Amino acid sequence: MNELPFDFAVENYPLAPLTIYQVGGPARLALVPRTIDEAVQAYEWTLRQPGKRAVLGGGSNVLIDDDGYDGIVIVMSKLDAMEPLGGDRYRIESGVDLDQVVREIMLEHNYDMVGGLTGIPGTVGGAIYMNAGTVNGSTCMLMESVEVIGPGGRSLVPMTESLYSYRGQTFCPRGSLILQGFFKFATTEKPQRPIYDHYIQRRKEKQPQGRCCGSVFKNPPGDHSGRLIEAAGLKGTRYGGAMISTMHANFIMNDDNATSADIRYLIDFAKRTVNEKFGVELEEEVVYIR
Ligand SMILES: Cc1cc2nc3c(=O)[nH]c(=O)nc-3n(C[C@H](O)[C@H](O)[C@H](O)COP(=O)(O)OP(=O)(O)OC[C@H]3O[C@@H](n4cnc5c(N)ncnc54)[C@H](O)[C@@H]3O)c2cc1C
Repeated sequence: MNELPFDFAVENYPLAPLTIYQVGGPARLALVPRTIDEAVQAYEWTLRQPGKRAVLGGGSNVLIDDDGYDGIVIVMSKLDAMEPLGGDRYRIESGVDLDQVVREIMLEHNYDMVGGLTGIPGTVGGAIYMNAGTVNGSTCMLMESVEVIGPGGRSLVPMTESLYSYRGQTFCPRGSLILQGFFKFATTEKPQRPIYDHYIQRRKEKQPQGRCCGSVFKNPPGDHSGRLIEAAGLKGTRYGGAMISTMHANFIMNDDNATSADIRYLIDFAKRTVNEKFGVELEEEVVYIR
């Protein structure tokens, strides 16, 4: 590339440090906008470029290929504005940490559903894209509308239940950009701080701490991927520097300088073994960037 298109464009940009897995090679070009206007300019520019495009939030649910990404990555984590709009409504830009929303808005005002979002790493944009959550609720349930930019332009999508499901949604196809979310919270009588403390503590006890992406697989209907992988006898299985956690079988750790290929090997191995033993096809929750 001759001249970079923006002052927030960087060639050969290392991606591993932007992910919790800490693996994978660089992006051929990264665009790291700081404002919504810059993100819109960046996205529109990518539409005119040949090759592929990916989007990165907080990097807590992605596995980047060892060879890196031979395309343009838009990194959204610098869009960090939060604005109260009155009436328990907030405008929150994509790059804000989800945990900041929980602590600085939800706990501060004792808004309901803290249990749904407690302890989930990553950004608001990633949480909306994944409809991140727990058994206690998910991100899209708290949205009034979402601003998205895609090949057809910029649009404000009013949220309805039909637009999202377990760890997924249909209003932002892969490669389009969630710019910001408009949240509508509800106050509750039930104190939320103890709920937050409880789930933070529970994660410490039940989930391995370290380099991972949380749950690798979505839970199949009526069952748990972790239970199936454990029942297949795979807890503690190692490949290269990667390991299926001994604490929670749906967590595959970068335990000791793993490569992306090591982790990918164990993901495929777990998938294949569970299918052979139980006839269940596990579906990845982790997103491959390659
Ligand atoms: C220890 C640990 C625990 C976890 N626990 C949970 C849990 O309890 N529940 C749960 O749901 N998840 C959990 N996760 C997974 C992960 O934290 C969530 O999926 C999170 O919402 C991803 O957000 P992110 O910003 O890190 O997204 P990334 O990992 O950066 O990206 C994930 C996907 O979202 C897309 N994306 C990100 N930002 C945008 C944007 N602005 N516009 C368009 N697309 C975008 C990316 O292209 C990618 O496809 C956990 C992960 C870890 C490491």
